[in-house]
Amino acid sequence: MQTLLLSDSFTLRYHRLQVSPVDVPSCRAREILQARVRADLKVYAEAVNSLQRSVGPEFKKSQKAAERARLAFETAGKKLADHLASHKCG
Ligand SMILES: [Zn+2]
Repeated sequence: MQTLLLSDSFTLRYHRLQVSPVDVPSCRAREILQARVRADLKVYAEAVNSLQRSVGPEFKKSQKAAERARLAFETAGKKLADHLASHKCG
């Protein structure tokens, strides 16, 4: 039990370090881009889920929605990668 408590407290401390690392400057633009990637990934995952459930004419519609979501996610990921490469803030 004691070991578990110690390890939980270590995990929490480690997690806090991960959230605000000292050597990586905070960058508002990067945070916005990262939030965009996360949001687009969620939409894409949901679109894939609904694609797996759809049949018949619904399938084509879901397929188009999933494709759009995938492109949006890829665009967001590319924008983030470009920002990290040019701004060196990641
Ligand atoms: Zn930046």
